[in-house]
Amino acid sequence: MKRMLNPLSCLYRLCPLALAALMIAPAGCSVADGGVEEPSKKEAVLITDPPRDENGKLIPVEKTPEAWREELTDQEFRILRESGTERAGSGRYLDNKEEGVYACAGCGLALFESKTKFDSGTGWPSFYQPIGKDHVANIRDESYGMVRVENRCARCDGHLGHVFNDGPRPTGERYCMNGYALRFVAASAPDAEPAPDAGE
Ligand SMILES: [Zn+2]
Repeated sequence: MKRMLNPLSCLYRLCPLALAALMIAPAGCSVADGGVEEPSKKEAVLITDPPRDENGKLIPVEKTPEAWREELTDQEFRILRESGTERAGSGRYLDNKEEGVYACAGCGLALFESKTKFDSGTGWPSFYQPIGKDHVANIRDESYGMVRVENRCARCDGHLGHVFNDGPRPTGERYCMNGYALRFVAASAPDAEPAPDAGE
């Protein structure tokens, strides 16, 4: 840091604002460049055929906030369990064009297929259709003086995002998701079982 003093003091004479920017930059960068938080500590789970009760209703996954905190990253917990919203453009999977399935980052329930993902230009991963008819729950949300339809995972009740009716064909719906609520499982990923060793 000491080596930097001379150039900085020169710069300061030229432009105090530039110096201020330099001084602030390291703190800001560590967040911005640290970039997208890695997916959760636990292994990705993909549940395409969730357990149901005798009436065909999804059997809910219920955990204490403490248990969720153990399993989820900070961002995942903030979005899923505290109905947070990631800053536009800051979440994961925004530009992911790989083939696969987006599951709930909380419980692994399959939510969206990659082929229904589209570039909405909003800064949030967007889809025009959920996978299962009842995997994504719609809930009327009147917070912030707006009437919106909130989406929650129908299995673990984790907050995902909101759905709007300005999406592309064929559904006209835009499921505006928080990337941190999702966990992507690539189609090319090996199934739950590890690939057999060549020598065995
Ligand atoms: Zn879930």
